[in-house]
Amino acid sequence: MASIPWLADVLRAAGLQVVEEGNWKARGVAGSFNPIGVLWHHTAGLSSATNPHPSLGICINGRPDLQGPLCQALVDYHGVFHIISANRANHAGSAVASGSIPAGDGNTMLIGWEIDYAGDQSKIGIVQEMTPAQYDASLRATVAVLQQLGKDASYVRGHRETKPRDKIDPSFIDLDVMRADVTALLNGNAGQAYRYRDQQRVAAVGAGGTLVSMMWSPSTDKLVQDWGSSGLVGKPVGFVHNGQQHVFARGNNNTVRHWWQAGTGNPVLDTWGTEGRVLSNPTGFAYRNQQHLFYRNPDGNLEHKFWDQGTNQITTGVWAGGPFVGNPFALVHRDQQHIFGRGPNGELKHWWWAPGQNPAHDNWGVSSGVASDPTGFSNGSQAHVFFRNGDGQLQHRFSLSNGQVLGDVWTGGPFVGNPHAIAHKTQQHVFARKANGDLIHFYWSPTVDPPRADNWGAVGVVTDDPIGLSTPDAHHVFYRIANGSLEHRFTIDATNQLVTDNWGGSLAPST
Ligand SMILES: [Zn+2]
Repeated sequence: MASIPWLADVLRAAGLQVVEEGNWKARGVAGSFNPIGVLWHHTAGLSSATNPHPSLGICINGRPDLQGPLCQALVDYHGVFHIISANRANHAGSAVASGSIPAGDGNTMLIGWEIDYAGDQSKIGIVQEMTPAQYDASLRATVAVLQQLGKDASYVRGHRETKPRDKIDPSFIDLDVMRADVTALLNGNAGQAYRYRDQQRVAAVGAGGTLVSMMWSPSTDKLVQDWGSSGLVGKPVGFVHNGQQHVFARGNNNTVRHWWQAGTGNPVLDTWGTEGRVLSNPTGFAYRNQQHLFYRNPDGNLEHKFWDQGTNQITTGVWAGGPFVGNPFALVHRDQQHIFGRGPNGELKHWWWAPGQNPAHDNWGVSSGVASDPTGFSNGSQAHVFFRNGDGQLQHRFSLSNGQVLGDVWTGGPFVGNPHAIAHKTQQHVFARKANGDLIHFYWSPTVDPPRADNWGAVGVVTDDPIGLSTPDAHHVFYRIANGSLEHRFTIDATNQLVTDNWGGSLAPST
Protein backbone atom coordinates (compact mmCIF):
# COMPACT_ATOMS: atom_id res chain seq x y z
CA MET A 1 0.00 0.00 0.00
CA ALA A 2 1.42 3.35 -1.04
CA SER A 3 1.47 6.22 1.38
CA ILE A 4 2.03 9.98 1.21
CA PRO A 5 4.26 10.72 4.23
CA TRP A 6 5.55 13.75 2.28
CA LEU A 7 2.22 15.57 2.49
CA ALA A 8 3.00 17.91 5.41
CA ASP A 9 6.44 18.87 4.07
CA VAL A 10 5.15 19.49 0.54
CA LEU A 11 2.36 21.74 1.80
CA ARG A 12 4.66 23.68 4.12
CA ALA A 13 7.09 24.17 1.23
CA ALA A 14 4.20 25.70 -0.72
CA GLY A 15 3.80 28.29 2.04
CA LEU A 16 0.73 26.78 3.70
CA GLN A 17 -0.02 26.67 7.40
CA VAL A 18 0.01 23.02 8.44
CA VAL A 19 -1.07 21.24 11.63
CA GLU A 20 -0.08 17.56 11.89
CA GLU A 21 -2.93 15.82 13.71
CA GLY A 22 -1.54 13.09 15.97
CA ASN A 23 0.01 10.04 14.35
CA TRP A 24 -1.26 10.91 10.87
CA LYS A 25 1.44 8.92 9.11
CA ALA A 26 0.07 5.70 10.62
CA ARG A 27 -3.64 6.58 10.46
CA GLY A 28 -5.70 5.06 7.65
CA VAL A 29 -8.22 2.43 6.66
CA ALA A 30 -7.37 -0.96 5.16
CA GLY A 31 -7.15 -1.30 1.42
CA SER A 32 -5.16 -0.02 -1.52
CA PHE A 33 -3.96 3.57 -1.90
CA ASN A 34 -2.17 4.67 -5.06
CA PRO A 35 -3.18 8.32 -5.49
CA ILE A 36 -3.11 9.96 -8.92
CA GLY A 37 -5.16 13.07 -8.14
CA VAL A 38 -6.97 15.29 -5.66
CA LEU A 39 -10.67 15.45 -4.69
CA TRP A 40 -12.34 18.53 -3.17
CA HIS A 41 -15.19 18.14 -0.65
CA HIS A 42 -17.09 20.26 1.79
CA THR A 43 -17.91 18.90 5.24
CA ALA A 44 -21.35 20.51 5.61
CA GLY A 45 -20.17 21.73 9.02
CA LEU A 46 -20.90 25.36 9.88
CA SER A 47 -17.49 26.87 10.60
CA SER A 48 -16.60 30.35 11.81
CA ALA A 49 -13.60 32.40 12.88
CA THR A 50 -14.07 31.24 16.46
CA ASN A 51 -15.01 27.66 15.55
CA PRO A 52 -12.79 27.12 12.53
CA HIS A 53 -12.89 23.31 12.23
CA PRO A 54 -16.11 21.85 13.67
CA SER A 55 -15.70 18.66 11.61
CA LEU A 56 -12.12 17.83 12.54
CA GLY A 57 -13.04 15.16 15.10
CA ILE A 58 -15.43 13.37 12.75
CA CYS A 59 -12.89 13.46 9.93
CA ILE A 60 -10.28 11.83 12.16
CA ASN A 61 -12.51 9.35 14.01
CA GLY A 62 -15.29 8.68 11.53
CA ARG A 63 -19.01 8.20 12.13
CA PRO A 64 -21.01 5.22 13.42
CA ASP A 65 -21.68 4.24 9.81
CA LEU A 66 -18.26 5.03 8.34
CA GLN A 67 -14.83 4.31 9.75
CA GLY A 68 -12.35 7.20 9.90
CA PRO A 69 -10.21 8.79 8.70
CA LEU A 70 -12.61 10.48 6.29
CA CYS A 71 -9.99 12.47 4.34
CA GLN A 72 -6.25 13.05 4.10
CA ALA A 73 -6.58 16.68 5.25
CA LEU A 74 -9.18 19.10 6.57
CA VAL A 75 -9.03 22.76 5.57
CA ASP A 76 -10.29 25.01 8.33
CA TYR A 77 -12.07 28.38 8.16
CA HIS A 78 -8.72 30.23 8.17
CA GLY A 79 -7.20 28.08 5.44
CA VAL A 80 -5.04 26.04 7.83
CA PHE A 81 -4.38 22.50 6.60
CA HIS A 82 -4.94 19.83 9.29
CA ILE A 83 -3.14 16.69 8.11
CA ILE A 84 -5.10 13.64 9.17
CA SER A 85 -3.82 10.69 7.15
CA ALA A 86 -0.96 9.65 4.89
CA ASN A 87 -2.94 6.58 3.85
CA ARG A 88 -6.22 5.43 2.41
CA ALA A 89 -9.27 7.23 3.82
CA ASN A 90 -13.04 6.86 3.40
CA HIS A 91 -13.87 10.02 1.46
CA ALA A 92 -14.62 9.27 -2.16
CA GLY A 93 -16.41 5.93 -2.46
CA SER A 94 -16.78 4.56 -5.96
CA ALA A 95 -16.02 7.13 -8.67
CA VAL A 96 -17.39 7.62 -12.14
CA ALA A 97 -14.88 8.68 -14.77
CA SER A 98 -14.21 12.42 -14.58
CA GLY A 99 -11.48 14.35 -16.38
CA SER A 100 -8.33 12.24 -16.23
CA ILE A 101 -9.65 10.16 -13.31
CA PRO A 102 -11.00 6.83 -14.55
CA ALA A 103 -14.01 5.09 -13.02
CA GLY A 104 -13.04 2.97 -10.03
CA ASP A 105 -12.25 3.05 -6.33
CA GLY A 106 -12.03 6.75 -5.47
CA ASN A 107 -10.39 6.04 -2.15
CA THR A 108 -7.52 4.33 -3.97
CA MET A 109 -7.04 7.02 -6.61
CA LEU A 110 -7.67 10.29 -4.81
CA ILE A 111 -6.26 12.42 -2.03
CA GLY A 112 -9.19 14.15 -0.32
CA TRP A 113 -9.45 17.66 1.09
CA GLU A 114 -12.47 18.12 3.38
CA ILE A 115 -13.00 21.87 3.34
CA ASP A 116 -14.86 22.75 6.52
CA TYR A 117 -17.89 24.86 5.54
CA ALA A 118 -21.62 24.26 5.45
CA GLY A 119 -22.25 24.58 1.72
CA ASP A 120 -25.76 24.68 0.34
CA GLN A 121 -28.26 23.41 2.91
CA SER A 122 -30.88 25.98 2.03
CA LYS A 123 -33.65 23.43 2.72
CA ILE A 124 -32.85 23.77 6.41
CA GLY A 125 -31.89 27.42 6.19
CA ILE A 126 -28.11 27.01 6.28
CA VAL A 127 -25.95 28.44 3.50
CA GLN A 128 -22.22 29.02 3.80
CA GLU A 129 -19.68 29.54 1.05
CA MET A 130 -16.06 28.48 1.15
CA THR A 131 -13.98 31.29 2.67
CA PRO A 132 -11.41 33.03 0.43
CA ALA A 133 -8.68 31.68 2.76
CA GLN A 134 -10.01 28.14 2.29
CA TYR A 135 -10.12 28.52 -1.48
CA ASP A 136 -6.63 29.97 -1.73
CA ALA A 137 -5.12 27.32 0.57
CA SER A 138 -6.96 24.47 -1.16
CA LEU A 139 -5.78 25.76 -4.52
CA ARG A 140 -2.13 26.05 -3.51
CA ALA A 141 -2.17 22.67 -1.77
CA THR A 142 -3.65 21.09 -4.87
CA VAL A 143 -0.94 22.62 -7.04
CA ALA A 144 1.78 21.38 -4.69
CA VAL A 145 0.38 17.84 -4.62
CA LEU A 146 -0.13 17.69 -8.41
CA GLN A 147 3.47 18.82 -8.85
CA GLN A 148 4.56 16.09 -6.47
CA LEU A 149 2.51 13.53 -8.41
CA GLY A 150 3.58 14.95 -11.80
CA LYS A 151 -0.04 15.54 -12.85
CA ASP A 152 -1.91 18.42 -14.47
CA ALA A 153 -5.14 20.17 -13.50
CA SER A 154 -7.34 17.53 -15.13
CA TYR A 155 -6.46 15.32 -12.12
CA VAL A 156 -8.26 17.53 -9.59
CA ARG A 157 -12.00 16.98 -9.33
CA GLY A 158 -14.92 17.84 -7.09
CA HIS A 159 -16.84 15.12 -5.27
CA ARG A 160 -19.99 16.03 -7.20
CA GLU A 161 -18.10 15.19 -10.41
CA THR A 162 -16.91 11.73 -9.36
CA LYS A 163 -20.18 10.88 -7.57
CA PRO A 164 -22.75 13.00 -9.40
CA ARG A 165 -25.85 11.08 -8.27
CA ASP A 166 -25.29 11.49 -4.56
CA LYS A 167 -23.10 14.50 -3.96
CA ILE A 168 -23.29 18.30 -4.29
CA ASP A 169 -19.93 19.14 -2.72
CA PRO A 170 -18.04 21.37 -2.90
CA SER A 171 -20.91 23.89 -3.07
CA PHE A 172 -20.57 27.31 -4.70
CA ILE A 173 -17.32 26.48 -6.49
CA ASP A 174 -17.11 26.51 -10.28
CA LEU A 175 -14.79 23.54 -10.70
CA ASP A 176 -13.70 24.55 -14.22
CA VAL A 177 -12.59 27.94 -12.90
CA MET A 178 -10.83 26.15 -10.03
CA ARG A 179 -8.94 23.98 -12.52
CA ALA A 180 -8.07 27.03 -14.60
CA ASP A 181 -6.66 28.66 -11.45
CA VAL A 182 -4.66 25.48 -10.75
CA THR A 183 -3.35 25.50 -14.32
CA ALA A 184 -2.31 29.12 -14.07
CA LEU A 185 -0.32 28.32 -10.95
CA LEU A 186 1.13 25.09 -12.34
CA ASN A 187 2.22 26.32 -15.73
CA GLY A 188 1.82 30.05 -16.00
CA ASN A 189 3.90 31.18 -13.11
CA ALA A 190 7.31 31.78 -14.65
CA GLY A 191 8.19 35.06 -16.26
CA GLN A 192 9.19 38.63 -15.61
CA ALA A 193 6.04 38.82 -13.49
CA TYR A 194 5.13 35.93 -11.22
CA ARG A 195 3.25 35.18 -8.02
CA TYR A 196 4.96 34.30 -4.75
CA ARG A 197 2.66 33.41 -1.83
CA ASP A 198 0.16 36.31 -1.69
CA GLN A 199 2.52 38.63 -3.58
CA GLN A 200 2.57 39.89 -7.15
CA ARG A 201 6.18 40.35 -8.22
CA VAL A 202 7.98 41.89 -11.19
CA ALA A 203 11.74 41.47 -11.73
CA ALA A 204 13.40 44.06 -13.98
CA VAL A 205 16.81 45.56 -14.68
CA GLY A 206 17.19 48.96 -13.11
CA ALA A 207 18.62 52.04 -14.81
CA GLY A 208 21.82 51.45 -12.80
CA GLY A 209 22.18 47.84 -13.99
CA THR A 210 21.09 46.21 -10.73
CA LEU A 211 18.12 43.90 -10.22
CA VAL A 212 14.98 45.76 -9.24
CA SER A 213 12.49 43.47 -7.50
CA MET A 214 9.09 45.10 -7.27
CA MET A 215 6.16 43.68 -5.37
CA TRP A 216 2.69 44.17 -4.06
CA SER A 217 0.90 42.17 -1.39
CA PRO A 218 -2.23 42.91 0.65
CA SER A 219 -0.16 43.43 3.81
CA THR A 220 2.78 45.40 2.37
CA ASP A 221 1.19 47.33 -0.49
CA LYS A 222 3.78 48.26 -3.16
CA LEU A 223 7.52 47.89 -2.49
CA VAL A 224 10.59 48.49 -4.69
CA GLN A 225 13.62 46.46 -3.59
CA ASP A 226 17.15 46.61 -5.00
CA TRP A 227 18.58 43.08 -5.15
CA GLY A 228 21.98 44.33 -6.28
CA SER A 229 24.57 42.88 -8.69
CA SER A 230 25.74 45.07 -11.61
CA GLY A 231 25.92 45.27 -15.37
CA LEU A 232 22.61 43.49 -15.89
CA VAL A 233 20.90 43.62 -19.27
CA GLY A 234 17.66 42.38 -20.86
CA LYS A 235 14.74 40.74 -19.11
CA PRO A 236 14.97 38.57 -16.00
CA VAL A 237 12.79 35.53 -15.39
CA GLY A 238 11.36 34.47 -12.04
CA PHE A 239 9.54 31.46 -10.67
CA VAL A 240 8.69 29.79 -7.39
CA HIS A 241 10.02 26.43 -6.25
CA ASN A 242 9.82 24.76 -2.87
CA GLY A 243 8.47 27.88 -1.21
CA GLN A 244 11.38 29.98 -2.53
CA GLN A 245 11.39 32.57 -5.27
CA HIS A 246 14.12 32.29 -7.90
CA VAL A 247 15.15 35.04 -10.31
CA PHE A 248 17.66 34.73 -13.16
CA ALA A 249 19.10 37.71 -15.09
CA ARG A 250 21.90 38.06 -17.59
CA GLY A 251 24.98 40.20 -16.98
CA ASN A 252 26.84 42.07 -19.71
CA ASN A 253 29.65 39.51 -19.21
CA ASN A 254 27.30 36.81 -20.58
CA THR A 255 26.86 35.20 -17.19
CA VAL A 256 23.57 34.53 -15.44
CA ARG A 257 23.04 35.85 -11.94
CA HIS A 258 20.66 33.75 -9.86
CA TRP A 259 18.93 35.09 -6.78
CA TRP A 260 16.87 32.92 -4.49
CA GLN A 261 14.96 33.98 -1.49
CA ALA A 262 12.64 32.35 1.03
CA GLY A 263 10.08 34.18 3.11
CA THR A 264 11.47 37.51 4.25
CA GLY A 265 15.17 36.55 4.27
CA ASN A 266 17.81 38.29 2.19
CA PRO A 267 18.23 36.98 -1.36
CA VAL A 268 21.24 34.73 -2.01
CA LEU A 269 23.21 35.19 -5.23
CA ASP A 270 25.11 32.68 -7.40
CA THR A 271 25.84 32.02 -11.10
CA TRP A 272 24.97 28.35 -11.76
CA GLY A 273 28.30 27.93 -13.56
CA THR A 274 27.17 29.95 -16.59
CA GLU A 275 30.28 32.15 -16.92
CA GLY A 276 30.49 33.49 -20.47
CA ARG A 277 27.84 31.09 -21.80
CA VAL A 278 24.67 33.22 -21.87
CA LEU A 279 23.98 35.25 -25.02
CA SER A 280 20.20 35.69 -24.56
CA ASN A 281 17.71 36.46 -21.86
CA PRO A 282 17.35 33.42 -19.60
CA THR A 283 14.10 31.45 -19.54
CA GLY A 284 13.05 28.58 -17.33
CA PHE A 285 10.64 27.05 -14.86
CA ALA A 286 10.23 24.83 -11.84
CA TYR A 287 9.59 21.22 -12.78
CA ARG A 288 8.85 18.68 -10.04
CA ASN A 289 11.90 18.65 -7.75
CA GLN A 290 14.06 20.52 -10.28
CA GLN A 291 14.73 24.05 -11.48
CA HIS A 292 15.40 24.49 -15.20
CA LEU A 293 17.21 27.25 -17.09
CA PHE A 294 17.58 27.67 -20.88
CA TYR A 295 19.49 30.25 -22.95
CA ARG A 296 21.31 30.77 -26.25
CA ASN A 297 24.96 29.78 -25.93
CA PRO A 298 27.99 31.27 -27.77
CA ASP A 299 27.41 28.85 -30.68
CA GLY A 300 23.81 30.04 -31.00
CA ASN A 301 22.42 26.74 -29.70
CA LEU A 302 19.95 26.01 -26.94
CA GLU A 303 21.84 25.32 -23.74
CA HIS A 304 20.08 23.83 -20.74
CA LYS A 305 20.98 23.66 -17.08
CA PHE A 306 18.92 22.13 -14.33
CA TRP A 307 19.33 21.80 -10.61
CA ASP A 308 18.00 18.67 -8.97
CA GLN A 309 16.92 18.86 -5.36
CA GLY A 310 17.65 15.18 -4.73
CA THR A 311 21.27 15.31 -5.84
CA ASN A 312 21.89 19.06 -5.26
CA GLN A 313 23.73 19.00 -8.60
CA ILE A 314 23.49 21.24 -11.67
CA THR A 315 23.51 19.31 -14.97
CA THR A 316 24.34 20.98 -18.31
CA GLY A 317 23.43 19.93 -21.84
CA VAL A 318 22.99 21.36 -25.33
CA TRP A 319 19.81 20.42 -27.21
CA ALA A 320 20.20 19.57 -30.89
CA GLY A 321 18.16 21.57 -33.37
CA GLY A 322 20.57 24.12 -34.69
CA PRO A 323 21.25 27.77 -33.99
CA PHE A 324 18.62 30.38 -33.30
CA VAL A 325 18.48 34.12 -32.74
CA GLY A 326 16.84 36.29 -30.11
CA ASN A 327 15.51 34.99 -26.82
CA PRO A 328 14.03 31.54 -26.16
CA PHE A 329 10.80 30.94 -24.26
CA ALA A 330 10.27 27.85 -22.09
CA LEU A 331 7.09 26.38 -20.63
CA VAL A 332 5.85 23.24 -18.91
CA HIS A 333 2.97 21.46 -20.60
CA ARG A 334 1.62 18.46 -18.69
CA ASP A 335 4.74 16.43 -17.87
CA GLN A 336 6.66 17.85 -20.87
CA GLN A 337 9.17 20.66 -21.28
CA HIS A 338 8.76 22.88 -24.37
CA ILE A 339 11.06 25.65 -25.57
CA PHE A 340 10.36 27.96 -28.50
CA GLY A 341 12.80 30.17 -30.40
CA ARG A 342 13.23 32.06 -33.64
CA GLY A 343 15.41 30.54 -36.36
CA PRO A 344 17.88 32.56 -38.43
CA ASN A 345 15.49 32.36 -41.43
CA GLY A 346 12.38 33.27 -39.44
CA GLU A 347 11.38 29.68 -38.81
CA LEU A 348 9.82 28.69 -35.52
CA LYS A 349 12.13 26.56 -33.42
CA HIS A 350 10.40 24.13 -31.08
CA TRP A 351 12.30 21.84 -28.78
CA TRP A 352 10.59 19.46 -26.38
CA TRP A 353 11.32 16.77 -23.87
CA ALA A 354 9.10 14.21 -22.15
CA PRO A 355 10.04 11.80 -19.35
CA GLY A 356 12.00 8.84 -20.63
CA GLN A 357 12.77 10.43 -24.00
CA ASN A 358 15.62 12.43 -25.50
CA PRO A 359 14.94 16.06 -26.43
CA ALA A 360 13.43 16.43 -29.91
CA HIS A 361 12.77 19.40 -32.20
CA ASP A 362 10.53 20.56 -35.05
CA ASN A 363 9.01 23.83 -36.31
CA TRP A 364 5.28 23.40 -35.63
CA GLY A 365 4.67 24.03 -39.32
CA VAL A 366 6.19 27.54 -39.35
CA SER A 367 9.15 27.72 -41.75
CA SER A 368 9.31 31.52 -42.11
CA GLY A 369 7.90 34.80 -40.88
CA VAL A 370 8.75 34.74 -37.16
CA ALA A 371 9.84 38.31 -36.45
CA SER A 372 9.87 38.47 -32.63
CA ASP A 373 10.74 36.35 -29.65
CA PRO A 374 8.00 33.76 -29.11
CA THR A 375 5.75 33.71 -26.04
CA GLY A 376 3.14 31.25 -24.89
CA PHE A 377 1.53 29.14 -22.20
CA SER A 378 -0.06 25.80 -21.46
CA ASN A 379 -3.70 25.80 -20.47
CA GLY A 380 -3.51 22.21 -19.30
CA SER A 381 -4.93 20.56 -22.40
CA GLN A 382 -3.18 22.62 -25.12
CA ALA A 383 0.19 24.32 -25.56
CA HIS A 384 0.09 27.76 -27.20
CA VAL A 385 2.73 29.95 -28.79
CA PHE A 386 2.44 33.49 -30.21
CA PHE A 387 4.84 35.72 -32.14
CA ARG A 388 4.92 38.81 -34.32
CA ASN A 389 4.92 37.87 -37.99
CA GLY A 390 6.43 39.65 -40.99
CA ASP A 391 3.36 41.89 -41.27
CA GLY A 392 3.68 42.97 -37.64
CA GLN A 393 0.58 40.94 -36.74
CA LEU A 394 0.06 38.48 -33.90
CA GLN A 395 0.41 34.93 -35.16
CA HIS A 396 -0.72 32.00 -33.03
CA ARG A 397 -0.02 28.26 -33.10
CA PHE A 398 -1.34 25.69 -30.65
CA SER A 399 -1.15 21.93 -30.22
CA LEU A 400 -4.10 19.73 -29.37
CA SER A 401 -3.79 16.73 -27.08
CA ASN A 402 -3.67 14.44 -30.16
CA GLY A 403 -0.53 16.25 -31.33
CA GLN A 404 -2.21 18.18 -34.15
CA VAL A 405 -0.96 21.78 -34.47
CA LEU A 406 -3.38 24.50 -35.60
CA GLY A 407 -2.97 28.23 -35.99
CA ASP A 408 -4.48 31.59 -36.80
CA VAL A 409 -3.64 35.30 -36.94
CA TRP A 410 -5.25 37.62 -34.40
CA THR A 411 -6.26 41.04 -35.66
CA GLY A 412 -5.27 44.17 -33.76
CA GLY A 413 -1.74 44.93 -34.97
CA PRO A 414 0.61 45.97 -36.33
CA PHE A 415 2.85 46.11 -33.30
CA VAL A 416 6.56 46.26 -32.50
CA GLY A 417 8.80 44.44 -30.03
CA ASN A 418 7.90 41.17 -28.34
CA PRO A 419 4.41 40.12 -27.26
CA HIS A 420 3.67 38.45 -23.91
CA ALA A 421 0.91 35.85 -23.58
CA ILE A 422 -0.85 34.57 -20.47
CA ALA A 423 -3.59 32.08 -19.75
CA HIS A 424 -6.16 33.44 -17.33
CA LYS A 425 -8.88 31.03 -16.23
CA THR A 426 -10.43 29.83 -19.51
CA GLN A 427 -9.25 33.00 -21.31
CA GLN A 428 -6.17 33.78 -23.38
CA HIS A 429 -4.58 37.25 -23.24
CA VAL A 430 -1.65 38.64 -25.20
CA PHE A 431 -0.09 42.06 -24.57
CA ALA A 432 2.03 44.02 -27.03
CA ARG A 433 2.89 47.64 -27.88
CA LYS A 434 2.53 49.75 -30.97
CA ALA A 435 5.30 51.95 -32.34
CA ASN A 436 3.39 55.00 -31.03
CA GLY A 437 3.37 53.65 -27.46
CA ASP A 438 -0.19 52.35 -27.39
CA LEU A 439 -0.81 49.12 -25.54
CA ILE A 440 -2.51 46.31 -27.44
CA HIS A 441 -4.45 43.79 -25.44
CA PHE A 442 -5.53 40.80 -27.54
CA TYR A 443 -8.01 38.45 -25.89
CA TRP A 444 -9.85 35.26 -26.62
CA SER A 445 -12.27 33.26 -24.51
CA PRO A 446 -14.77 30.53 -25.30
CA THR A 447 -17.35 33.33 -25.67
CA VAL A 448 -15.05 35.82 -27.45
CA ASP A 449 -14.18 33.91 -30.61
CA PRO A 450 -12.73 35.20 -32.90
CA PRO A 451 -10.38 37.11 -30.58
CA ARG A 452 -10.60 40.88 -30.16
CA ALA A 453 -8.18 43.65 -29.27
CA ASP A 454 -8.33 46.87 -27.24
CA ASN A 455 -5.85 49.15 -25.43
CA TRP A 456 -7.03 49.20 -21.80
CA GLY A 457 -6.69 52.98 -21.93
CA ALA A 458 -2.88 52.91 -22.22
CA VAL A 459 -2.33 55.27 -25.15
CA GLY A 460 1.07 56.60 -26.19
CA VAL A 461 2.74 55.67 -22.89
CA VAL A 462 4.29 52.20 -23.31
CA THR A 463 8.09 52.38 -23.76
CA ASP A 464 9.02 48.68 -23.48
CA ASP A 465 7.52 45.23 -24.01
CA PRO A 466 4.50 44.76 -21.72
CA ILE A 467 4.36 41.97 -19.13
CA GLY A 468 1.18 40.04 -18.29
CA LEU A 469 0.18 38.29 -15.06
CA SER A 470 -2.83 36.21 -14.00
CA THR A 471 -4.05 36.24 -10.40
CA PRO A 472 -7.11 34.45 -9.01
CA ASP A 473 -9.39 37.48 -9.32
CA ALA A 474 -7.83 39.65 -12.05
CA HIS A 475 -5.54 39.82 -15.04
CA HIS A 476 -2.73 42.32 -15.15
CA VAL A 477 -0.28 44.13 -17.42
CA PHE A 478 2.91 45.97 -16.44
CA TYR A 479 5.00 48.22 -18.67
CA ARG A 480 7.74 50.81 -18.45
CA ILE A 481 6.74 54.42 -19.15
CA ALA A 482 8.89 57.36 -20.26
CA ASN A 483 10.17 58.31 -16.79
CA GLY A 484 11.41 54.72 -16.29
CA SER A 485 8.76 53.74 -13.75
CA LEU A 486 6.53 50.70 -13.97
CA GLU A 487 2.87 51.34 -14.73
CA HIS A 488 0.35 48.66 -13.89
CA ARG A 489 -3.17 48.09 -15.16
CA PHE A 490 -5.48 45.27 -14.22
CA THR A 491 -9.03 44.20 -14.85
CA ILE A 492 -11.00 42.71 -11.95
CA ASP A 493 -12.92 39.70 -13.23
CA ALA A 494 -15.99 40.02 -11.03
CA THR A 495 -16.75 43.64 -11.92
CA ASN A 496 -14.82 44.12 -15.18
CA GLN A 497 -13.37 47.23 -13.49
CA LEU A 498 -10.08 48.51 -14.94
CA VAL A 499 -7.62 49.84 -12.35
CA THR A 500 -4.36 51.73 -13.01
CA ASP A 501 -1.51 52.45 -10.62
CA ASN A 502 2.24 52.99 -10.72
CA TRP A 503 4.78 50.80 -8.93
CA GLY A 504 7.61 53.33 -9.16
CA GLY A 505 11.17 52.23 -9.79
CA SER A 506 13.69 53.44 -12.35
CA LEU A 507 14.00 50.76 -15.03
CA ALA A 508 16.29 50.34 -18.01
CA PRO A 509 14.68 49.52 -21.35
CA SER A 510 14.92 45.75 -21.85
CA THR A 511 15.91 45.91 -25.53
ZN1 LIG B 1 -17.64 14.83 -0.40
